[in-house]
Amino acid sequence: MIPFNKPHLTGKETHYIYDAVNSGKLSGNGKYTKKAQAFFEEKFRFKKTLLTTSCTDALEMAAILLNIVEGDEVIVPSYTFVSTALAFVRQGAQIVFADSRSDHPGIDETLIENLITPKTKAIVVVHYAGVACDMDLIMQIAKKHNIFVVEDAAQAIDSYYKGNPLGGIGHLGVFSFHETKNIISGEGGLLAINDASFEERAEIIWEKGTNRSAFFKGEIDKYGWVDTGSSFLPSELISAFLYAQLEHLKDIQDKRIRLWNIYFENLKDLQNENLLKLPKIPEYATNNAHMFYVVTKNLEERDNFIRHLRENDMHAVFHYLSLHTSKYYLKNHPLKSLPWSDEYSNCLVRLPLFYELEEKQVNSICKVINEFFNK
Ligand SMILES: *Cc1c(COP(=O)(O)O)cnc(C)c1O
Repeated sequence: MIPFNKPHLTGKETHYIYDAVNSGKLSGNGKYTKKAQAFFEEKFRFKKTLLTTSCTDALEMAAILLNIVEGDEVIVPSYTFVSTALAFVRQGAQIVFADSRSDHPGIDETLIENLITPKTKAIVVVHYAGVACDMDLIMQIAKKHNIFVVEDAAQAIDSYYKGNPLGGIGHLGVFSFHETKNIISGEGGLLAINDASFEERAEIIWEKGTNRSAFFKGEIDKYGWVDTGSSFLPSELISAFLYAQLEHLKDIQDKRIRLWNIYFENLKDLQNENLLKLPKIPEYATNNAHMFYVVTKNLEERDNFIRHLRENDMHAVFHYLSLHTSKYYLKNHPLKSLPWSDEYSNCLVRLPLFYELEEKQVNSICKVINEFFNK
């Protein structure tokens, strides 16, 4: 069976973990945490970054930093992972779900302005499959209405909008290093703080509501409880693993992009013949090859397609169930129609894509796909 995903080890992970163990410093904010954060600040020019134990945690930090309180409204695409919405719900926010674009699962930027009310505090955009939303348009709308923008860049490491790294454009950006992402640490995440006014408070929230970071930098004599927060920082063991991965970022991205291009070349005739839809990369966006997906005509075809691949020992999977149709959301909200979000829930299929996947395996997957749609 060709699996859907396989976590890739670059080689130095256990070496750096061993080094961290030997150093006697296992808790967070040590050498490897600082090395990993410095990597992001240098490579992507993020002003300030903090490693977290997950992207979910980074989103929770964002919700706290933006002072989201009971009754605030937050605009979120429905076609996303639970955490994009949940982190804000935990602070008491009302989530206002937006539909996807017809040509991409990301938020339809043209619908945002109609969803804004005097209670709107933030827009959370998701760069689905690592492909940028139209950030100029989103930032313009946010500025006009004086609301914050959080980029859920969980899938978008090393991907760009008009040359600017994703996660570095909104007021805050968040990344994931879950084992299914391009760069991994099992579980793990990062908060990018792009608006300097959040920097000081972010470190406090990160360190259980204490000013411990300032203390260790010698900025204050004693540290104590000064704000809300939690234990959002990862242990050095996780950071050491992550740092080994970051050293191989280019190699990992190059390989993924090569595989992605083989998929695209081998399947584009099917798209030309209107038999399925392939990912679209807009002019302003780059492709970090986080994912290769196809969109089938309907739910029945999707199920048959996944079954057909499985019969050929190839594991393909569908993705999000629209959050506006989730059991949790429907408890307190009426069912509304978001047609594109529902379409992606029903018809989008993700194909195997991971570092160790071989080019000839991609070719054989494409052969099976071509046979399925041309039958
Ligand atoms: C993976 C993912 C998350 C959650 O990341 P964790 O690190 O598992 O918390 C959130 N949002 C999106 C869009 C994701 O793809």
